[in-house]
This record gives sequence, C-alpha cells and structure tokens, in this order.
Amino acid sequence: MDAELGTEKYGHLTHVLAEARKRQAVWSKELERMRQLHFSTLCVHGGYTPAEAIRNNQGSVVEPVYSSTAQAHADSDWLEAALAYQIPAWVYSRIANPTVGYLETVLALLEGYQLPFPTAACCTSSGMSAIKAATEPLLADRPGKKQKNIVAMVQCYGGTYQLLDVRYGRERGIPIRWVNDASDLDEWRRHIDSDTCFVFGEFPTNPGLAVFDIERVAEIAHSQGVPLIVDSTLATPALCRPLSHGADIVVQSLSKTMTSSGRGIGGALISRSGLTCDAATPEMLDNYAGWVKLWPYRDAGPSLSPESAAHTLDSIKTLRMKMDVLSQNAMRVSEFLDGHSSVESVNYLGLPSHPQHALARRYMRLVDSNENRYGHLLSFSVKGGAKAARSVLDRLEMVFLATDLGRIKSVATIPSISTHQQQGEAARQAARIPPALIRLCVGGEDSDDLIADLDRALKTA
Ligand SMILES: *Cc1c(COP(=O)(O)O)cnc(C)c1O
Repeated sequence: MDAELGTEKYGHLTHVLAEARKRQAVWSKELERMRQLHFSTLCVHGGYTPAEAIRNNQGSVVEPVYSSTAQAHADSDWLEAALAYQIPAWVYSRIANPTVGYLETVLALLEGYQLPFPTAACCTSSGMSAIKAATEPLLADRPGKKQKNIVAMVQCYGGTYQLLDVRYGRERGIPIRWVNDASDLDEWRRHIDSDTCFVFGEFPTNPGLAVFDIERVAEIAHSQGVPLIVDSTLATPALCRPLSHGADIVVQSLSKTMTSSGRGIGGALISRSGLTCDAATPEMLDNYAGWVKLWPYRDAGPSLSPESAAHTLDSIKTLRMKMDVLSQNAMRVSEFLDGHSSVESVNYLGLPSHPQHALARRYMRLVDSNENRYGHLLSFSVKGGAKAARSVLDRLEMVFLATDLGRIKSVATIPSISTHQQQGEAARQAARIPPALIRLCVGGEDSDDLIADLDRALKTA
C-alpha cells in the first residue's frame, strides 16, 4: 500500500512515520531495480526478492500464504498510523493482505513492462468484480458529465455484456452505446463524446476473437478526455500489454490463463500513472488502482482470498513459456481443423484467413521476442448446424466439456447454450455467435493427441 507519508495532523506519530519512510525507501529501490529486469524474470520473481524473504518472511523461498484476517501492531502509534493510511500496512485482509500484495506487485510489473511511467494493481475476487471495480467509480456524478454514457464493444464477454446492459444500462439508466464493428474506427468516433464515462474494449474478445486498434481507439477516447479500459484476459501480459498502447486501465480475469491450473477465481485492475479522465480527482489520475483499493474497494469488499492469490502467483511463474507453447499448440490445432472436411470455418487469430489477422499480428507478440503468438483460444463451426456441434462435443474423450478456458488442459463448450445463453438470440447475433459454434481452449497436451481426439469426434459425428 503506497500511503502518503507524514502530514501535520499526525505530528505525534513522527517516529513511526520516519521508520516507515526508511523501509519504504528500501522497497522503492528494490522495485526500481526489478523494473529493469526481463519479463521472464519478473514472472518468476515478481516482487518477492531474497531480501524480502529474509526481511519479512522467515526466508521462505515462495510467497507465504497469509491466511490471517488481520494484522497486529507494535503499539497504539503504529495502529493509528496504519489505520489512517499514513504508513504501508495491511491491517485487515478485506483492505489488503501480504500474499495478495505480492500478486499485485507482479501484475503491476508485468502490465507495466518497460513503460516509462509507474503502474499499480488492485486484485479482486473475480474478473467480473475487477470490471465492476474499474468502471463503477467512473459512473459517479462529477462535474463535466451531464448526460452520462458508456461506449463498449458489443462482442465483449457475456458477463461484461450483462453488467453494462442490465446493471448499468437498464437498472441505472445510463445509455450504452455499443460498437458493433470494432474494426471501424469511425463507429468508435461517432459514439465517444465528452459525456462518455469510459470506453471499454476487449482484446481479443471471448469467444468471437475480435481485436481492435487499441492505439487509435485510445487516441479517440483521449481526445474527448475519456479513459480507455481494456480487458486483455485472453492475451495475458505475455502477448499484449494494452497500457503500452495507450490504454489507461487494464482488467484481467485471473481465473483464466493467469491461473492455468484452474484452482482459483480472481481478477485484477491495473492502471497507469497519468490517466486520461476529465472527471477524476488528481489522486485517481495518479494511481487509479491504488485509489480504488484504498476507498471504493474497501467499502464494497470484493477482496481476493490469499489462497487464490498464491495459486495465481504459482501459475504466473511460468506464464511466458506457457503462452509460447499453448499458442503454438493452438496454431497446430487450428490448421488441422481448417483442413477438415466436416468443419465449416475456423476462427483463430493466427490463421491468415482471419479477417483481423493483420491487426492481431501487429499487437500480439511473445514478449521479448520477435515471434507472433495468438493465444490458446479458438472457435470453429461444424457442418450440420447446432445438432452436429453437440454431437462432436459429446464424442470428445480427452477434451473436457466445460464452461471454462485458460487451462493447461483442453476445454471445449458451445457458447450459445452456455456462456452466451442468457443474453438472447439478438445479442448473440450481434456478437456473431452462431448456434453451431464450438469454443475450444487448447491446453498443454501433445498436439498430436489432441488432434486425434478431435479427428475421431468429427468423423463419428
Ligand atoms: C472469464 C472472463 C471474464 C470474467 O472473469 P471471472 O473471473 O469469471 O469473473 C471477463 N472477461 C473475459 C474476457 C473473460 O474471459
């Protein structure tokens, strides 16, 4: 927690503040050194250095799971300073927790990789709660926003669609201006004005795999003083870091590839210092994620459990190598499906036939390499419509049939009867989700075994 150290009001706590300032200076220097390291090193070590292990954690080689609800203080001066947000402290696990704190540090480092400005992260109990925590404060009544509106890609994740359309739109009466064709910059331009509270994009979308030109859309949003929020759950920071392309806030569902073991639900919002947002206070502009954590997040309570944070930390250590291998597997599987006589069409950003392949090639690259990688999600439609799609899915023996993705195990589903069932046919059509579409998230199995399972299911269906 980066609290501002020392003010008049806390004169009697001078000794506490001085000691905290000393510790903070040591930590800041370590963090500065970490910011110089390569991406893989950051994945493996994050903010957990040998010095930090010795100093605060009995030398534990991995980040300990601090399951304690609350933190004890040395005396009443330290207690008061901590509760007044005058010194870095974790106090109570709804507000902050050391294990979650280590995760926030590594997420801020990864999304802010090689950027010339500081970044900050706030972890939440799920991806949806991260989206809620990132967007809700921007809807508050503030000077300059008379006729509030929201601009978002219609192809976004089903949960996000419901949050924007039902919770914000219908229940709170804030008009949602949906961008139907995210590749059409004029459409973004037509929708965004100075009354827009935030612009929301997903990169790439789940399950449609649409991408958009983050840099151009950020420019359009910024020209109206509006922040751009990007959900880059499917890309992960190993393949694309929206903050480096002009986005102001990134949201991640940590439940997916970031925790590929599938052992935890979690989310995070990561912000850049120097947000563009006409309707925000200087504190919000400087460190939005940190501000959210100290105030609205504390008051709403969507905290991440330390156990889940530890699972995510374990998974992140291999993030870069995993995204490399999983993406290559997905490429092979896409090429196989693309050449199969029972398959109508394959939707994978790595295939040159994908209408947005060129844009994806510009934005999706394995960090610290010149290699393009396109992630492990793909979708395909089988010949014979909805019934045929169901029978292919029912015949798979190795691939798990589940509303899940981002796993080290391959998982498949039919979005129209699962993830996108509730939003109705019209919204599904807008999001381009036909009934025969199968979503497949390719895991780390040998691609030959995976292809054999798919081939058998497609032949017998
Ligand atoms: C799954 C998902 C979410 C929601 O995350 P939860 O952790 O399930 O709440 C948001 N955005 C995208 C792109 C997702 O795939």
